[in-house]
Amino acid sequence: MKPLGPIPPGFAAIDGELAIGGYTASALAAEAGTPLFVYDGALITARVAALRAALPERLGLHYAMKANPFAPLLRHMARLVDGFDIASGGELEMAEAAGVPAERISFAGPGKRDADLEAAIARGVTLNLESAREAERALAIGEQLGKPPRLAIRVNPDFDLKGSGMKMGGGAKPFGVDAALVPGLVRRIMASGAEWRGLHIYAGSQTLDAAAIAEMQAATLALAARLAEESRAVLPACNLGGGFGIPYFPGDAPLDLAAVGDALGAQFSALPDVLADTAFCIELGRYLVGEAGVYLTRIIDRKESHGEVFLVTDGGLHHQLAASGNFGTVVRRNYPSAIATRFGAPVEEEASIVGCLCTPLDRLADKGGFPRAEEGDLVAVFCAGAYGASASPAHFLGHGPAAERLVNANP
Ligand SMILES: *Cc1c(COP(=O)(O)O)cnc(C)c1O
Repeated sequence: MKPLGPIPPGFAAIDGELAIGGYTASALAAEAGTPLFVYDGALITARVAALRAALPERLGLHYAMKANPFAPLLRHMARLVDGFDIASGGELEMAEAAGVPAERISFAGPGKRDADLEAAIARGVTLNLESAREAERALAIGEQLGKPPRLAIRVNPDFDLKGSGMKMGGGAKPFGVDAALVPGLVRRIMASGAEWRGLHIYAGSQTLDAAAIAEMQAATLALAARLAEESRAVLPACNLGGGFGIPYFPGDAPLDLAAVGDALGAQFSALPDVLADTAFCIELGRYLVGEAGVYLTRIIDRKESHGEVFLVTDGGLHHQLAASGNFGTVVRRNYPSAIATRFGAPVEEEASIVGCLCTPLDRLADKGGFPRAEEGDLVAVFCAGAYGASASPAHFLGHGPAAERLVNANP
């Protein structure tokens, strides 16, 4: 039997069934059909409260909306966080529709098209510039519109986040402006009459190591101070990146948030003068929403092949690619999963939970230990609140997208 990842806290059993935000899996599936993503707004609210309690008050909290752009969830988040970080013109429209004011939106991401730049500048969104050429295009578009663009520079830092799932900084990268070129670009922006908004420094994603995050934040603050001095410019704002990870796999332990907060508090109390008035923020995706989501699918077929049990579901990697191990992981390991309609029942057999796609990649759980499940039972795959529905190839094989529901939304 292969181990399963740890089921996140906050999921109780009601009448022997998994309950999400107080609703049983079978009631949710009866209402919305399967396959289905369910997000518990109350868990997201509690997560934000825990962050606010642990982190310095001075630190703003942004939502990186690519983690989950489900419209009701965006509206929920808009009431909780200080800003939204977007990465496309489409995300700009979704953030606006969720009621996020433009001055609380910043737009990073390589390959921004002129139409994206124009939409952002016209609305007053801050652009996190990814290159010197992008800066020139933004300035030209601002001139045409008669509106000075709000410009920050995304820095390609000289370091990356240790233990990070996805390396985003250090060395040659399509993201950000190399640190050595930043001071010249800052001076160009300030001389242009654009509104100078500061720096965005993002060094990586998905680490569970508080010391690695503290080290990255210290390096980020030092880099920001050095660049501000070399540019002879104050920094109105500085986005320190994110990287807070969640436990997905067997043996993963949650991030020690108090340790991260204490270390950053100590950094903030010893800031150099050049950063004294800078507004700092971090941008988090999966840490805010990942553990609040569950993917529910129904078992269509139970079969044996060469002595192994396969539970074939009506879902699969076309909705939850990450759980199949095909989204940014090198070695496939099991996400947390359970038979939702027999939640908490003892393990009775080894079974693999597979999807309905004709590919051996479509495996939601590999040789896990489960209570014996039958056709009609529901399967839950946890940690499905981030990079699930919108980061999976929903059109592959024509099964169509999963339903999505947010329960316990902000009123
Ligand atoms: C993807 C991304 C994030 C969010 O990453 P998580 O691991 O979900 O927290 C934040 N900032 C930038 C620039 C990103 O590309």
